[in-house]
Amino acid sequence: MSTVVRPVDEAHAHHLDAVDPLPPRRADFHVPPATGGAFTETAYLAGNSLGLQPRGTRAAVEQELADWARLGVEGHLEAGRPWKPYHEFLRDPAARLVGALPAETVVMNSLTVDLHLMMISFYRPTPERYAIVVEDTTFPSDSYAVQSQARLHGLDPGRAVVRLRPRPGEDCLRTGDVLAFLRREGHRVALVLLGGVNYLTGELMDIPAITAAGRAAGAVVGWDLAHAVGNVPLRLHDWGVDWAAWCHYKYVNAGPGAVAGCFVHERHLTDRSLPKLQGWWSTDPATRFAMGPDVDPVDTADSWQLSNPPILAMAPVLVSLRLFDEVGIAALRERSIRLTGYLADLLATVCADLPARVITPADPQRRGCQLSVRVAGTTAAEVCARLRHEHGVVADARPPDVVRFAPVPLYCTHHDAWRAATALAAVLSSGTLSYRTLSSGVPSTGPGERRDA
Ligand SMILES: *Cc1c(COP(=O)(O)O)cnc(C)c1O
Repeated sequence: MSTVVRPVDEAHAHHLDAVDPLPPRRADFHVPPATGGAFTETAYLAGNSLGLQPRGTRAAVEQELADWARLGVEGHLEAGRPWKPYHEFLRDPAARLVGALPAETVVMNSLTVDLHLMMISFYRPTPERYAIVVEDTTFPSDSYAVQSQARLHGLDPGRAVVRLRPRPGEDCLRTGDVLAFLRREGHRVALVLLGGVNYLTGELMDIPAITAAGRAAGAVVGWDLAHAVGNVPLRLHDWGVDWAAWCHYKYVNAGPGAVAGCFVHERHLTDRSLPKLQGWWSTDPATRFAMGPDVDPVDTADSWQLSNPPILAMAPVLVSLRLFDEVGIAALRERSIRLTGYLADLLATVCADLPARVITPADPQRRGCQLSVRVAGTTAAEVCARLRHEHGVVADARPPDVVRFAPVPLYCTHHDAWRAATALAAVLSSGTLSYRTLSSGVPSTGPGERRDA
């Protein structure tokens, strides 16, 4: 979308929704009622934080509860979807979503746990090669995880963990700078662990280029795909990614704390020298119930599993992955580029007049659907509270000053995007926020002024 659309043009938003070649699957989701504003439903732009509940989820969970009530322990073999191999039902759709071979994919645990399990195998520091490279704005859990992994190996995290920063005055990393760093310093890097899409800025990293450069430097390259999966197309196998982990509760909509996913490249699957933490689900299912004292290894990503799968938590993942199979991530991405482009145009118009600016890359190839707005003179939390209570717009605050808007292509409309931009303009220009002196680089004509009142 290249034309700049005035934020007041609600009719144009409706028009774009009417002519959209892939109508959103909004009817398949529970859209929360609005707690304020002129509309009965929220404009839900927080699917990057917690995706909405698909309408099919309840029945899928209830089916497992019913099978448990009816069958007790026999449900392991006799449930409509037998529990014993339950994780195998999720393998193929998860593999399709991330561009992996089924054998490379396993759905298990939660994301941070999977990061640790992967690092037990793939972070093997030596005196010469010990660094873990993350982005400076890595998600806190990832930061704590890599620091604790360094300590586990007796290393000082201050020395072992390298945090890549954007250039002064810039918000996002440049691919070229990451590649140059890996060429220059790669000899001391044991593991590169970046976010595929940065949770704060919404920047989509060049996963194939960075993976190739990291591996060429002799490092292992893992990716945290929490904000990438279900958001952008991925081809983990073809890109040669060593390993990856992601959660399913953001863009994949599988519910709070949903079971996570993990990818290990085929070339590592037969390497029995890799250190692993193991449990009874690591062993070959054919001999698992012989209950012998030793693991019978399998050469798939399943060998990183520990425990029997949490069925009640996995049923929603199955429902959600099915939706992605039905719509297809490629078609979703096309719609996402249009919808996010529309919101980006609206926000550019709004922010030109206000103490706020979009920090997400303007190039659609360098972002997914999330747009992050840095606000000045107020807090992101205050802005989000007012968006929600005064306008029924749900966005997401990251302290101190970043408001994240994700027009999720599965269920958001152009009208939702219009509501978000219009509400942001209203909140930031209302004059009741306590503006301080604006920081440099924030274009503004001052509070209280709007072109499109
Ligand atoms: C959401 C997110 C997490 C969350 O970790 P959990 O273990 O699922 O609680 C971790 N890392 C990143 C990059 C995230 O975006």
